[in-house]
Amino acid sequence: MNLNWNEIFVGELNISYITEIFIRTIIMFILVLVILRLSGKKGVRQLSLFEVAIIIALGSAAGDPMFNQENPILPSVIVFAIIIIIYRIITYFASKSEKFEDLVEGEPLYVIEEGQFVLGIKNDHTFAKDEFFAEMRQESIEHLGQVKTAILETTGNISFYYFSDEEVVYGLPVLPKAYNKKLTTIVYEDMYSCTYCGNSTLLQKGPNDCKRCNHNEWVKAIKTVRTI
Ligand SMILES: [Zn+2]
Repeated sequence: MNLNWNEIFVGELNISYITEIFIRTIIMFILVLVILRLSGKKGVRQLSLFEVAIIIALGSAAGDPMFNQENPILPSVIVFAIIIIIYRIITYFASKSEKFEDLVEGEPLYVIEEGQFVLGIKNDHTFAKDEFFAEMRQESIEHLGQVKTAILETTGNISFYYFSDEEVVYGLPVLPKAYNKKLTTIVYEDMYSCTYCGNSTLLQKGPNDCKRCNHNEWVKAIKTVRTI
């Protein structure tokens, strides 16, 4: 294969083209800023899927005219205007109808209730357990039994509500060293947590099925209280 490296990396580049890229990029960048200001959004710490879609649409309309001599800027401005109109219309209807809002933005999802996973949550396509455990560790949560309620918000953030120290129950540990000691046959009687649903219970020697979800993989349960 005979690759033309000059075409891949340089192409038709010359001083006047570079100057044009410079001017085009500045104009497009300012336009994007103006459009984002017009959208009324305050910041972008967390975006819902709907907002990510808007950003992608804006980005692709903004990118091409920055360096493509065949793309004048005005068509992109029209695309911007249409995107902002769509955004405004959708957010207007979302503010009027909760059903419509759920359709566009998704719904908050209960993940933990009373120190256990909500049944069926592991089959939900929006739920990734590893990510969720990482989020719990970021909040210095040691096990599920410290958490009364956890809700996965539509922005991807997770809201945690904790048990008070006296209310903490036995729970599934989320620290990797403890969680990875999984057992299918219990060696000695103790409190164990189901790795699938987080149900914590006293188990006898031998194989045990979880009475809540019928899975049979266990980790030793812990009942430490939150230290911060
Ligand atoms: Zn279970």
